[in-house]
Amino acid sequence: MVKAQSATTQKKKFATETKQVLELFAKWLYQNKEIFLRELISNASDANDKLKMLALKDEDLFAGDSDLKIWVMYNKATKTLTVRDNGIGMSMDEVVENLGTIARSGTKQFIDQLSKAQSTDANGQLIGQFGVGFYSAFVVSDRVEVRTLRAGLPGDQGVFWQSSGVDSYEVSACELTQRGTEIVMHLKEDAEEFLDEFRLRKIITTYSDHIAYPIVMFVEKTVESVAGQDDKESKKDEKPRKEIQEEVVNQANAIWTVPKKDIKDDEYEAFYKHVSHDFNQPLAWTHNKVEGGKLEYTSLLYLPSQAPFDLWNREYKHGLKLYVQRVFILDDAKNLLPTYLRFVKGVVDSNDLPLNVSREVLQNSSTVDMIRSGCVKRVLDLLGYMAENESDKYQTFWDAFGAVLKEGPAEDFANKDKIAELLRFTSTRSEDSKQTLSLASYVEGMVEGQDKIYYVIADSYRAAKNSPHLELFKNKGIDVLLLSDRVDEWLVSRLTEYKGKSLVSIARGEVDEALSMDDEEKASIKASEEAFSDVLKQAETVLKERVKSVRLSKRLTSSASCIVADEDEMSVNLRRMLIESGQSVPEMKPILELNVKHPLMVRLKDEMQDERFADLANVLLDQAILAEGGQLEDPSAFVKRMNDLVS
Ligand code: ADP
Ligand code: MG
Repeated sequence: MVKAQSATTQKKKFATETKQVLELFAKWLYQNKEIFLRELISNASDANDKLKMLALKDEDLFAGDSDLKIWVMYNKATKTLTVRDNGIGMSMDEVVENLGTIARSGTKQFIDQLSKAQSTDANGQLIGQFGVGFYSAFVVSDRVEVRTLRAGLPGDQGVFWQSSGVDSYEVSACELTQRGTEIVMHLKEDAEEFLDEFRLRKIITTYSDHIAYPIVMFVEKTVESVAGQDDKESKKDEKPRKEIQEEVVNQANAIWTVPKKDIKDDEYEAFYKHVSHDFNQPLAWTHNKVEGGKLEYTSLLYLPSQAPFDLWNREYKHGLKLYVQRVFILDDAKNLLPTYLRFVKGVVDSNDLPLNVSREVLQNSSTVDMIRSGCVKRVLDLLGYMAENESDKYQTFWDAFGAVLKEGPAEDFANKDKIAELLRFTSTRSEDSKQTLSLASYVEGMVEGQDKIYYVIADSYRAAKNSPHLELFKNKGIDVLLLSDRVDEWLVSRLTEYKGKSLVSIARGEVDEALSMDDEEKASIKASEEAFSDVLKQAETVLKERVKSVRLSKRLTSSASCIVADEDEMSVNLRRMLIESGQSVPEMKPILELNVKHPLMVRLKDEMQDERFADLANVLLDQAILAEGGQLEDPSAFVKRMNDLVS
């Protein structure tokens, strides 16, 4: 190949982020150096995939060479290791874009997280989620050279790029004869172990066996003498000849096309790392071939073991790749799975879709709809199986992705019941905030006469756990789900019942009849209502700008007050969330409930003639709002009133 023309060489600095990431990789990958080869082969495979896909529309891109491969070559004399492909290649602009920055969304956020994470272990996990990529070449190299020619461009538009990975790189145009990309690594002294055929073979078969393209090495073969059998004498004299031959060292079949029984777990795991860019092991997978019916497709779907750092980003890329008849068509295939399963990674390979299928076509394809419901079923079945038989594993899944799955009942009404079985919660009976309780076990633990599933929602676990609304339920020994994930409001707005038992907020409407007291209690409440009716009326007048009504509470035992939403109104928590997210919400006033057994009530009655009555009523309302985790419109007024009352 031709040397760079220095006259046009440009020296450029890496984007700052690149530099930081490089340093982190170098440190962290030190124990795992061999990973670089998997990453470069993965890129070569992607490049071949892309060319094959583009050539569907423009066969000239192959320029007569459609036999796509990946070569791995080492040279002991020059201490170099080379990975080459005859895939899509890169133009000058693409080289600068792809190799000059870490061109992924969320890099900034990633670095911030990394610098927050103290231990190297935590760093390792984060880097794993981020994917390692091209830059891992610098973990084993003092210098990396890239020569690349984009398919369809003339030979003089080749690009030469090189860097020692410190802070800058050089690029120049150069003349190349072969399409594709060649990466030459000048190995560091402590990485010379990779100049070894058997070491390289081992790495390739471990990590890249089921890359769909042949990975070719040049190996030295001893060639037998061609002399005849009788010619023993002459054979003795002749030394066996050594010859360099090309040899395919991987299986070179796309793993999803191989029958399940012939695939080992570590092969599934290695392929996961290729499709997902995730360094961690997958948690579980499901591999299925659908054929013989109206539809023919194969799916290989993985559950990651950790949530990626950008799972909640708007631009989060979905993890499914679509192939048609083994040709890669597109990634980030959002149509193949609903958003609430966006954490699933893997491959769908269809025999029915046309090879020239576009994203637009996918949106309105009944074939895609059928594949999608098939994939949803596979994933939900896998989760159901884990939930039932591998509860530790399921808990790992839930801890990472439970909040995403909770979007399910709203998005996928048809599978609402299946998803409901998979949900996990924490409740007043749980030890801590860990969500381990299924609705089935909640129902099992219901007390006699209880026919509803109760929950309380707040914006933190602590606020939910300490909600004054819980007091009556605690007294009666009734378990209440404590909801505090952002998505929970959304969840309970769609999941209104489970196996015929309705889900009911304990902070809305009147206290349930079923929970109500015995006759004695009823009589005593009635008496109180009469005794306090003036007080309630007066409080209502004083607070009329802020509340809908004031009434005595049947749910409080120790707190002085609480606020509730009316039966048919938006919950106080949902309202707050909507306001925080900048949405306009209709004006809504809560109902203030007061605890007749609380000493402050007696004081309120005593001070009906006093000007302090208004202060006290306001304080009771403010307390109730604070206990809900809400914010006061005028906190300083609250503090002032509080101090006046105390003094
Ligand atoms: P990723 O593969 O996750 O995108 P990498 O760091 O591995 O990240 O690669 C960065 C980008 O560089 C790739 O997305 C691709 O555009 C480009 N690239 C890397 N290797 C090759 C290659 N062999 N052929 C063509 N493009 C490549
Ligand atoms: Mg890559």
